Amino acid sequence: MTGPRPRPELHSIAVHAASRSGGAPTAELTHLLAANENPYDPLPGVLDAAIEAAGRFNRYPDIGCERLIAALARRFDLPPTRFAAGAGSVSVIQSLIQAMAAPGDEVMYAWRSFEAYPVITKAICGATPVAVPLTDEGYHDLDAMAERVTARTRLIFLCTPNNPTGKAVGRDELTEFVARVPEDVLVVLDEAYAEFVSDKDAADGTAVCREYPNVAVVRTFSKAFGLAGLRIGYAIAPEPVAAALRTMATYGVSQIGQEAAIASLAATDDVMKRVDLVIAERHRMEDALIEQGWPVSRSQANFLWLPLRERSAEFAGACARAGIGVRVLGEDGVRVTVGARESNDLFLATAANFPLEHG
Ligand code: PMP
Repeated sequence: MTGPRPRPELHSIAVHAASRSGGAPTAELTHLLAANENPYDPLPGVLDAAIEAAGRFNRYPDIGCERLIAALARRFDLPPTRFAAGAGSVSVIQSLIQAMAAPGDEVMYAWRSFEAYPVITKAICGATPVAVPLTDEGYHDLDAMAERVTARTRLIFLCTPNNPTGKAVGRDELTEFVARVPEDVLVVLDEAYAEFVSDKDAADGTAVCREYPNVAVVRTFSKAFGLAGLRIGYAIAPEPVAAALRTMATYGVSQIGQEAAIASLAATDDVMKRVDLVIAERHRMEDALIEQGWPVSRSQANFLWLPLRERSAEFAGACARAGIGVRVLGEDGVRVTVGARESNDLFLATAANFPLEHG
């Protein structure tokens, strides 16, 4: 075929996108436990704010997200110059990699972790991915990561809690790690699931980024705040990095999204009541699965990780036949979102009927 040809590296994105549905036709699934979404309907005040903003969609949004950033700055008691917003945290992650890493530079992350890191690093930015295996229990191996730093390392992503294993990086191990990393390497804590963390010893990036000039945090309104479809994420970064991200803005965050995010911040107490329900459901599902003999361990996020290896697709198929969508990650395992009680009950019943071999 002749004609304009996209860069061949982009082919890997199509492969990534195809794996998202786990092979099941999403339209036939009634219990959506594949994407770590919030199962609850929008809060009434947040919906009202979005509808109000929708009445003005003939106008461009505020490209700088100034009122949203002002609200975040007040929330975290940090100057607005340290913030940048984007169309979902995945777009903030993409901007960070584009801002920091040129072809030949290295971007490090643990593996398995969020699938966008290798895709954006390699296919979109042409930089070199450095994937460091997690420990057998699904934690970041921070010693191994520190040892892999080279003169070309520009960025290190730490996903905490880690998608898909649900394990959080500890506060003390994080500060030891940051002290070992050269000052010109940006350590990015991807805290998409931070609000679901119940371990008191887990690191909180919004605290760590005050003390270290090379630490950034990425958070999202998609998960605990329930705005996945509106696409809003943000970074708290060192000032020059945050300024670069704001310069790269492309009107990507709609005004509907900005207003909904501002209203959600004002409703944080209600948001956190729902988060508490999800955490209670997480404990209930963990206990039930452990009781059933599943190889599951405690998660700090709104999903559970089942390292089923070569039986992953078979289990996802059993879930799909029951109308439940889960995420299959190669032949490593299946990730299931903690959803509404009814979906979780159906998932537990499906798991109980799956012939698990012991030993
Ligand atoms: N980081 C992690 C670890 C995620 O799991 C996800 C979504 N699955 C994101 C970032 C991106 O979420 P969003 O773009 O909706 O903010």
